Amino acid sequence: MQRILISACLLGAKVRYDGQDRLCDDPRIARWQAEGRLVSFCPEVAGGFPTPRAPAEIEGEGGGQAVLSGQARVLEDTGRDVSDGFIAGAQAALQQALESGCTYALLTDGSPSCGSRFLYDGSFGGQRIDGQGVTAALLSEHGIRVFAEHQIAALEDRLQSSSDSAPREARA
Ligand code: SF4
Repeated sequence: MQRILISACLLGAKVRYDGQDRLCDDPRIARWQAEGRLVSFCPEVAGGFPTPRAPAEIEGEGGGQAVLSGQARVLEDTGRDVSDGFIAGAQAALQQALESGCTYALLTDGSPSCGSRFLYDGSFGGQRIDGQGVTAALLSEHGIRVFAEHQIAALEDRLQSSSDSAPREARA
């Protein structure tokens, strides 16, 4: 069975920085959950951050890849550098994905951890830019295909075109 690492907030866990969730009530998610495909995970909680917590954004335009290579930082709106915690959370997410046999991830877009198509630009002014968060970047680097919550149809297509008898192991 193809398994999917999913942002915990999409399943209704109130783990976002503002103490809220991002519940996605798409029936395909409910079906995948019933099938035992979903592995719920919050990288920021795993990285040691409390809920609620200060909002954070990645500085510059390099996104999560730049954070992982030490070329950019994740900063709270106070200016505190929280890069180490975001990297630790991403590494924990990767470990969970590999141990659970997840070949896909369905992650909340726009997050400095989970964003996969867009981020905010580091100005805390609501300006979107293309890019991946730290966790999405690390999972992608290890061959796990990352989809955003607005790409559920594409993920379903991918699942249907993949054989469930395919090897479970993600490429590492
Ligand atoms: Fe949701 Fe990911 Fe943010 Fe956790 S880190 S609250 S799973 S978007």
